[in-house]
Amino acid sequence: MFARKRLDIGGTDLLAGLAACAGAFDEEGPRARVEGVFARDGDERRAIACLSVRSGLDLFLREVALPRGSEVLMSALTIPDMWKIVEHHGLVPVPVDLDPRTLSPTIERWRAAASPRTRAVVLAHLFGARVPLGPVAALARERGWFLLEDCAQSWTGDQDRGSPLADVSMFSFGPIKTASALAGGVLVVRDPAILERMRAAQASYPVQERQKYFTRILKYSSLVALTKRPLYTAFVRWCRVRGVDHDQLIQGSVRGFAGGEFFEKIRHRPSAPLLRLLARRLESRNRWRIDGRVARAQRLLQGLARAQGRVAVPGADLAFHSHWVFTLLVDDPERVVLELREAGFDATRAASLRSVPAPSGRPVLEPREAQRILSRTVYAPCYPEMSERAVDRMAAAIVRAVERSQEPLAEVVLTPAQPRHFFQSSRSRR
Ligand SMILES: *Cc1c(COP(=O)(O)O)cnc(C)c1O
Repeated sequence: MFARKRLDIGGTDLLAGLAACAGAFDEEGPRARVEGVFARDGDERRAIACLSVRSGLDLFLREVALPRGSEVLMSALTIPDMWKIVEHHGLVPVPVDLDPRTLSPTIERWRAAASPRTRAVVLAHLFGARVPLGPVAALARERGWFLLEDCAQSWTGDQDRGSPLADVSMFSFGPIKTASALAGGVLVVRDPAILERMRAAQASYPVQERQKYFTRILKYSSLVALTKRPLYTAFVRWCRVRGVDHDQLIQGSVRGFAGGEFFEKIRHRPSAPLLRLLARRLESRNRWRIDGRVARAQRLLQGLARAQGRVAVPGADLAFHSHWVFTLLVDDPERVVLELREAGFDATRAASLRSVPAPSGRPVLEPREAQRILSRTVYAPCYPEMSERAVDRMAAAIVRAVERSQEPLAEVVLTPAQPRHFFQSSRSRR
């Protein structure tokens, strides 16, 4: 059984992390290295390394202190903590529905969701795709809103330092993210005054406990081992015999900051060992894995051309897609998941994304398209550790599974027939 995902961190990185927990005490050196990776044009320190993206967003909102009751427009699919943090600061998250072809709201939708109380926009780039910011950035500038982009899923480890059009670009290096350090986030903040205030506030936070980071590395080391194919096959069988739902077991084990006192947990600064491992990951460039991932995804897209109209790939219309995860929209996701598992591929519907709920009393703002995407999404395994033959076998299994769809995906007009995805930045470098 191919696991749904392989964590993007290897044995030597894990060992380096454990060693750092025992011996690394300098915070400033590795912090400067991490933040230096995101420097540009001689602008040396315009980034801040945090414990996580969520910690960084919380820090930003705290320092800009928008008036209570201000509205924050949010692209409608993200992880729930993001809008909970917005709410915690006395602000009102307003969902803005997505166009499934581009995985982002159209400019008309941003406009329609705006009100005199709007003060900020948060746009999440999903699944590894990158959405052009031009139109929404122009709107934000015209109205004086902050524009934040959430690049947690879209970072590709090379020239991507966030869009210069955004006020804040947020990058995550949590367990399931590209170039993972099992924790950590970086925010590029383009207003130096706000950045300095964030630095000062973070400096007063307690430091992440190194003992906790140490056990975290141990825990994820076992997950890294477990998701190798032979072990994973045994694990899934064991779950079946014991009557345990492996979906829930895995999903539950990768949640960060679970359990009570969420805000107390995120308000820590990253420890020296975390900064050191993060610096190591960022400096390693990590090219091969991303290129391999994109190549597998393109092959899979080609294989799916035969199922046109019955399977769609959200974001297929975007010029840039790095396929951090491979998502399909299908008519009957439950069945597709079961059939793929039968064929040896641990597809899943489980994910941490949710649609942002409409503010109370404003049901017209319910993001129906985002809800429909969620209800039809299947995540298929697709990563460099899969052979091309395995990818082809999985494509065939998907085509078989959707052949018997009751109804074609009439209203979703995505066609993966002509894969337009390519890894622009690595091409241009060659
Ligand atoms: C992972 C993720 C985050 C959170 O990142 P952390 O660094 O774990 O806080 C936020 N938004 C999206 C879309 C994500 O995928």
